[in-house]
Amino acid sequence: MRAFPAGLVFVVLTTLTISRAGSPLSPPAHPLPDKGGIILTFDDRNFSEWLAALPLFDQYGVKATFFISGHIDQPALDAALELKKHGHAIGCHSIHHLSAVKYSSQHSAEDYLQKEILPQLTAFKAAGIVPTSFAYPMSSNNTATDAVLLKIFRHVRTGAGITPGKRISGKNAFFIATDQIAAHGCLYGKGIDYAPDKEDRSYEQIDEALARATRKNEIIVLYAHRIATAGKGHHISPAALEHIFNTAKKLQLPFYTLDQLP
Ligand SMILES: [Zn+2]
Repeated sequence: MRAFPAGLVFVVLTTLTISRAGSPLSPPAHPLPDKGGIILTFDDRNFSEWLAALPLFDQYGVKATFFISGHIDQPALDAALELKKHGHAIGCHSIHHLSAVKYSSQHSAEDYLQKEILPQLTAFKAAGIVPTSFAYPMSSNNTATDAVLLKIFRHVRTGAGITPGKRISGKNAFFIATDQIAAHGCLYGKGIDYAPDKEDRSYEQIDEALARATRKNEIIVLYAHRIATAGKGHHISPAALEHIFNTAKKLQLPFYTLDQLP
């Protein structure tokens, strides 16, 4: 094969670098949010319940991020496109909902990316959806999985709990200063399924945490699964969501999707 002149290689590389930074192919620049806020996220494949809750989200102007697991088949695409139409963001949650840490230790983090993540990303992109974030199944992550996934996503979300008797507002891992958000690839979310019926997610706890985010100009990440009043599987009721929406409204604390953040 004929070798290319060094000058031509330089021009091609330079052009590639410029187009990555500035073309419509690369994600648009995302300015820092000017105030603290809430990143509200939902996981798995609870499509009918999520879509049924759209009027509630619309009523309060709340935008959330929905992390979809499994193959990106027609039901997943239909739901994702409808959620997008209402201003929500779509993220990846892996094909088989396995532990990223366990899978990576048995194979490799690169393998996890190839088998569990890229097929979702490819299918979403074919439908015009470009996820910028990923949520770890079962909050299973470590620095090796973060490093590989953050080459693809701007943010990955995992979860953390609080010690019994402690306050959400006292755990710094849940709160990120707005001007630090771009530097925090991995975000620690607080679970709110079953709110307000558990001590670590009572309305008092949640309201106090949102007040801290407002006062200190911080971003707090929350996660849930189904949107329902009862039944099998982790869920939060529409009434509990509405409580959170009302608290945020009183505090003038905005909601951000992960696609909106740098
Ligand atoms: Zn999940």
